[in-house]
Amino acid sequence: MAITIHRGTHQIGGCVTEYESEGWRLFVDYGEELKGGPKSGTLKVEGLTHGDLSKSALLITHYHGDHIGNITDLPEGLPIYISETSRELQLVLSDHLKSVEPAQQKMYERLQLTKTFKPGKEFTFGPFRIMPITVDHSAFEACAFKITAQQSVFHTGDFRTHGFRSSKFAKVIEKFVGRVNCVVCEGTNVNKSNATSVSEPELQKQYEAKFRKYKGSIVYMSSSNIDRLFGLYHAAIRAGKPFIVDAYQKRMMDVVTQRDHIWGKSELYQYDEKYPPMVLQYENNEFRINDKFRYLMEQKGYVLIARANERFDNFIECLPGEKHKYLSMWKGYVEEGCEAYNPSLAKSLGKNYEYLHTSGHCDMKSLRELFHMLHPQMIIPIHTDNPEEFANLFRDEFFVKVLKDGESIISLHACTR
Ligand SMILES: [Zn+2]
Ligand SMILES: [Zn+2]
Repeated sequence: MAITIHRGTHQIGGCVTEYESEGWRLFVDYGEELKGGPKSGTLKVEGLTHGDLSKSALLITHYHGDHIGNITDLPEGLPIYISETSRELQLVLSDHLKSVEPAQQKMYERLQLTKTFKPGKEFTFGPFRIMPITVDHSAFEACAFKITAQQSVFHTGDFRTHGFRSSKFAKVIEKFVGRVNCVVCEGTNVNKSNATSVSEPELQKQYEAKFRKYKGSIVYMSSSNIDRLFGLYHAAIRAGKPFIVDAYQKRMMDVVTQRDHIWGKSELYQYDEKYPPMVLQYENNEFRINDKFRYLMEQKGYVLIARANERFDNFIECLPGEKHKYLSMWKGYVEEGCEAYNPSLAKSLGKNYEYLHTSGHCDMKSLRELFHMLHPQMIIPIHTDNPEEFANLFRDEFFVKVLKDGESIISLHACTR
């Protein structure tokens, strides 16, 4: 098996990886480059963007834009595989945004043509056996893949080990992956040693304490960070506060609460029968707020999941009493001078807010534990802005191969530590 990293050896966004065996090509992810990162522009890859596609397929690890965002540029004849729930959530998201963002209309249409897989169920493509497993990440049902064609590779995708479901990670690796020849590994946090200092359950407790303390809490977060959303929902219920979302956010939540769904069986993804999320109603293109609602908010307080737009701004303006705001996503979005700066988020959030967030990516200590489980002969870092530092960190025990974009590893057999 040959491995080529077409993009992502020295940047976090827009990773594209190719596995090749007997003339068959399996690609992983085709997303956008990050706003604030380096740019390599449009990719031209034989068997992916053009040429003979009869022995090619693309796997998507998860629905973040830097992994799926550019699939609309790919030829329709290319089979694209994505996990069932990821597809459902992305469809709700694209459906919500398609009237204002033409790119989401295209995404909505392209998703109709995708094939789906189930985590834990192996499938094949040409000579490849593919075992998708779910990993914990800030995107729901994010997947890593064990890809086998003579040799085996574990492609981590984006993941972390400090989320709600991470306690099962070692068992899942043991059961579904075992040892591999190579790990193609995300290294997002190589330069950010503090990014994971709080676990998702600890963060939930911090929120619960705040929700108890303040009458009105308003949280700005990513609408597709499902675990954070359910964590905050249960924190609000425990704190005795109504949890308020708009209809779109409720649809996103409903996708994972369906009873026949594997995830619907987990307590985290279930609604309290007495206190399901309250859904904002529309009136004249604004959120309705009447005296009865205002009285309820005054009496009970609330936790509102907000987004940066005028409708939410107007609604928040009309809410009674003290309003405590939180930012529950990466701080760069509201830091002036940062290329990812989002002026409307900065405006809606204002200056007075608390930053309560934890990373969706793995810390380096946990990566080492993963490598101890997988015993790879070679590790290839991707999705990182500092692969050299990544190599320095692990070369005491492992052979880390830092590639350039477009460079290939022809045989995994040839490598020694
Ligand atoms: Zn991601
Ligand atoms: Zn990513």
